Amino acid sequence: METLQTVNEMQAYTAKLKHAGESIALVPTMGCLHEGHLSLIRLAKQQASRVVVSIFVNPTQFGPNEDFDRYPRRMEADLAACAAEGVDAVFNPSSEEIYPKGYSTFVNEEVISSGLCGVSRPNHFRGVTTICTKLFIIIQPDIAVFGQKDAQQTAVLKKLVRDLCLPVTIVIGPTLRDEDGLAMSSRNRNLTPSQRQDALSISRALKIGTEMVEKNVRSVDRIVAEITHHISHSRRVRLIYVQVVDRETMEPAKTIIPGTQVICLAAWVDEVRLIDNALL
Ligand code: AMP
Repeated sequence: METLQTVNEMQAYTAKLKHAGESIALVPTMGCLHEGHLSLIRLAKQQASRVVVSIFVNPTQFGPNEDFDRYPRRMEADLAACAAEGVDAVFNPSSEEIYPKGYSTFVNEEVISSGLCGVSRPNHFRGVTTICTKLFIIIQPDIAVFGQKDAQQTAVLKKLVRDLCLPVTIVIGPTLRDEDGLAMSSRNRNLTPSQRQDALSISRALKIGTEMVEKNVRSVDRIVAEITHHISHSRRVRLIYVQVVDRETMEPAKTIIPGTQVICLAAWVDEVRLIDNALL
């Protein structure tokens, strides 16, 4: 497995693969890899002859008072996990490599990214669309694999690719969960055992929502109210938002139309911000 740290090295590697007629699947991550990430790597391997994983804690998608410094980092373990999965190359640039002094160009999707997490994290998606555009340009993947866990991110990135005619296909892998239902997340590492216990109310509440839909409840209000009520019983959990939205546009739903929507939820578990969602 190659480990590449500079844009020049990465571009030379890409050129070599393209020259040899290989197809490239990219799995962008912020590291501290868990089974959810590994499932995306396995999906990527099925879709292209070469798999590149990027590991970059992207500073521009964190707000000034967010957890950039506290974000968990485990580079050695991540490299070992990638090697064990048969990844061909890891791109692991420094912040200065991606955003050299005086950097001033950003890519912004202005509609899908404005609601949900865009409200409480105003520049978050600008950071995501900028880094993904840069990765797509540097690595030139044929496909890029993302997780359904970040439902709004996937919708924003699909729109980015469509609007800018980027020659990459976005593939979405399902959300992997621990046995107790908690969606896997690098940030779960920052939870104490009792915070983790309380955090379970997030996936349980979403399950209550999907079960209501299965029982033919069609009122968005009722579903949102039940979810809010369930979460309110967990001492450490503070709901940021819960909304039923269209899967592609992220527009709030007025009534339930199964097969087209997703319940998106964000919550603080004390100081740790978690998101989760359930496809309807
Ligand atoms: P992150 O390192 O958290 O930025 O995530 C990198 C990629 O992994 C993103 O496309 C995420 O949506 C995806 N991902 C994160 N958690 C999970 C999960 N539990 N299951 C599947 N994919 C995930």
